[in-house]
Amino acid sequence: MDDRAFRNTMGKFATGVTVVTTKTEENVHGMTANAFMSVSMNPKLITISVDNRATMLDKIHHSGRFAVSILGEEQQDISMHFAGQKEKDDGVEFDLINDMPIVRDSLATVVCDVYDSYVVGDHTLFIGKVLEINLRDGRPLTFYQGQYGNYRALEHA
Ligand code: FAD
Repeated sequence: MDDRAFRNTMGKFATGVTVVTTKTEENVHGMTANAFMSVSMNPKLITISVDNRATMLDKIHHSGRFAVSILGEEQQDISMHFAGQKEKDDGVEFDLINDMPIVRDSLATVVCDVYDSYVVGDHTLFIGKVLEINLRDGRPLTFYQGQYGNYRALEHA
C-alpha cells in the first residue's frame, strides 16, 4: 500500500482542529494537532498523537503536562501558525489555566497531566489525565481531505 493512498483514506475522516500546548520552565510551545480523542470517562482520560520528529515530543516528556485547545471556526490562522504553515502577523495570545498556557478564545480547552505514553510506530500517543476543562459557545474549525472548513448541522428529517 502506498503512503498517498493511506493518507487519502485517513483524510476521509473529518475532524476538528486543536492546538496542543505545554510549558517547560518559562518556555511555552504550541503545535497544531487533529489526532485527538476522548478515551475514558472514569477516570477522565484523553489522547493525542505526536510525531516522533516534532519538537513537541521532548517538551511534553519534560514538562509531564499539556493542554489541548479546540479551535473555533474563526481560528484557522492560529491552526496554520502552529502547524508552521503561515506565521500569524499579530502574534498569538495565551491564557493560563492551572499554570498551563491555552490558546485564548478557543472553543474548549482540556488541561492534563501525562498519565501514560506509548511509542507507536513513528508517533507517540500521550494519554492525558484531565485536570481542568473550559468551554464557550461557538462553532468548530474542521479539517477534511487536507482542507479547513466549518460545521453545519443537518436538518432533522
Ligand atoms: P514547530 O514546527 O517548531 O512549531 C510549530 C509552529 O508553532 C512554529 O511556526 C512555531 O513558530 C510556532 N510556535 C510554537 N510555540 C510558539 C509560541 N510559544 N508562540 C508563538 N508561536 C509558537 N502533527 C502531529 O504530530 N500530530 C497531529 O495530530 C497533527 N495534526 C495536524 C493537523 C493539522 C490540521 C495540521 C495542519 C497539522 C498537523 N500536524 C500534526 C503537523 C504539526 O502541526 C506540524 O508538523 C508542526 O509544525 C509540528 O510542531 P513542532 O512541535 O515540531 O514545532
